[in-house]
Amino acid sequence: QTVLITGASGFIAAHVVEAFLRKGYNVRGTVRSEKAAAEVLKMHAKYSGQISVAIVPDIAAPNAFDEAVKGVDGVIHTASPFILNATDFETELLQPAISGTTGILEAIQKYNSAVSRVVITSSFASVLDPTQGQRPGYVYTEADWNPSTVEQANSSPVMAYLASKTFAERAAFDYVKQKKPNFTVATLCPPMVYGPIAHAVSGVDALNTSAGDIYRLINGSEKAVPDTSFWAFADVRDVAEAHVLAFEKPQAAGQRYLIANSAYSYQQICDIIREKFPELQDKTPKGDTGAALPPIYKVDTTKAVTELGIKFRPLQETIVDMVNSLLALQK
Ligand code: NDP
Repeated sequence: QTVLITGASGFIAAHVVEAFLRKGYNVRGTVRSEKAAAEVLKMHAKYSGQISVAIVPDIAAPNAFDEAVKGVDGVIHTASPFILNATDFETELLQPAISGTTGILEAIQKYNSAVSRVVITSSFASVLDPTQGQRPGYVYTEADWNPSTVEQANSSPVMAYLASKTFAERAAFDYVKQKKPNFTVATLCPPMVYGPIAHAVSGVDALNTSAGDIYRLINGSEKAVPDTSFWAFADVRDVAEAHVLAFEKPQAAGQRYLIANSAYSYQQICDIIREKFPELQDKTPKGDTGAALPPIYKVDTTKAVTELGIKFRPLQETIVDMVNSLLALQK
């Protein structure tokens, strides 16, 4: 079986591609440039007979995926901008997120009736209500949707990112409802995703958003422990495995899944770094070592655990492996 994986050059996608290759699938990855194509092939050289690439320069362009979807058995759509500093929300965030998603679904329906499952990397961004903050006592489940309006989406770069994921995920389920294609859709909603960096990065200043957040905790640029923005995380390897499981499990048809480990805080991450990497103690903020988590919302992952059979790695393993990969990159 061959799966098409979009955005193969990304932080999460590197692990998603690896997870499918490891399981014996053939993978066709989409990237934006020849340079990224070469990097992706090199990254997965161990599986050279199983991997190929297709160039899709702009996922928001009409008919962007018409060629790439031909001849595959399944599609994993991870490509979407994750930036928190956009200035033109429409072109930098909303269009690629939404048109990228509806565009690939249209291309599949038009050109490939063999695809039976499409897995989409959505986000906890499309689940939480960003106006409610820490929301003590509240338990988020797959029944929750970020209620942001278009007006709220345009109120700040962060709100625009959160809304881009929300509107894109809604558009996917609406597409299936209205156009009744041959395929079913499953979406995955991870909060902050951390863990080892496997994709090609030109340098520490070109890290993806969630890796950049942790890098700032080890390079001396944060003098105090920053405020935690989302109170749940997932390990990138667990998120990758979830994509394979959501692709394979019949019962994932039409479902969305919260993919999250326990709650965490930046304080806990700093505590782990300072304990496990004593050489970083003068670069990593100390804060209030050992402080308990404040009262915050919970994320109920029962559905992913029981239906997908996923197991989650603990924060310490995620952070230690991530910091080791960041230190290697820094060299
Ligand atoms: P990356 O920035 O590493 O990956 C994003 C990928 O999407 C890259 O391959 C990028 O290509 C591609 N992409 C973005 N915009 C476009 C565009 N306009 N046209 C073509 N390709 C585009 O981030 P992540 O790996 O973190 O994100 C992957 C997915 O996971 C996204 O959908 C994101 O919303 C979601 N997610 C991430 C979380 C996290 O904490 N990291 C949390 C929850 C969800 P290029 O490399 O060329 O820029």
